[in-house]
Amino acid sequence: MAMQAPPRLIIATRNAHKTAEIRAMIGDDFEVLDATDFPDFPEIEETGTTFLENARLKAGGISDRVEGWVLSDDSGLEVDALAGAPGVWSSSYGGEEGNHAKNNARLLAEMAGKTDRGARFRCTMVLASGGVEQANFSGTVEGRLVDALSGTGGFGYDPLFIPEGYEQTFAELGDAVKNTLSHRARALGQVIAYLAEHGTK
Ligand code: IMP
Repeated sequence: MAMQAPPRLIIATRNAHKTAEIRAMIGDDFEVLDATDFPDFPEIEETGTTFLENARLKAGGISDRVEGWVLSDDSGLEVDALAGAPGVWSSSYGGEEGNHAKNNARLLAEMAGKTDRGARFRCTMVLASGGVEQANFSGTVEGRLVDALSGTGGFGYDPLFIPEGYEQTFAELGDAVKNTLSHRARALGQVIAYLAEHGTK
């Protein structure tokens, strides 16, 4: 008997790191694709002022164009000493969209001399199908910022962030550990439970 192909889960992102983390956490139950597999997908402008607004824009912008589940991820770093910045503007904090080196350099500069090192990553995910939002989910991981880049794993602010209960940055801990406790892992755990309950159309 022929094996049935797993259902598709299309991640509304061109960020290869996000897709890789989600693919590693989802396992074989879904065929995980992303926007790079669909050259015709529009570039979605993130004009929202909250993670949820941006996640909705990203999922809504493509879910009516494809069959199957679409999952968006809007995420960022909130720093206590910076009144929650960079927040929803995390990806362009250094002045250039997606330039992690510049983002980290600015964060280090803003944090110079600050004793309150508290910070958290947040991730909001929207799950949509047929152009309609089905549910949304959020995950958070608390932690603290170090004052020099440490480690080579992960992406973005990972070399500057130590999650609560650990002594190494996400970039030092590596994906295997990060994927058990990150903001993305916590949001995705809820997505997986939702999909298990609501089927895989
Ligand atoms: P988005 O693509 O608008 O959701 O922006 C996400 C940005 O937040 C990334 O470009 C990173 O700067 C930061 N970010 C989100 N998740 C992570 C993570 O898991 N590690 C490090 N930085 C992250």
